Amino acid sequence: MNVLKCDKCNKDFILDMKRKIFQVSAIEVLYFKCPHCGERNIGVATDVVIRKQQEKVRKLNKELLKTKKEMSERMFKLKEKLEKEEF
Ligand SMILES: [Zn+2]
Repeated sequence: MNVLKCDKCNKDFILDMKRKIFQVSAIEVLYFKCPHCGERNIGVATDVVIRKQQEKVRKLNKELLKTKKEMSERMFKLKEKLEKEEF
């Protein structure tokens, strides 16, 4: 369990993350409220554009890792090949 201290009333409480989706705008918000004073804290908020961008970033990261791995393997093989050659 994650215990937090409220920035406003300074009391401790257990983190209970809630999720709200606004039907019309398709905005999704992750937030929590202090049970003592009701102070609301927004964690992550996304809309359609942001979620598409997040998906793009995930794909690009996957592609980046794949390219780095291929490059590193090729460099290793090239080095191995060159170590057997005179120059
Ligand atoms: Zn509070």
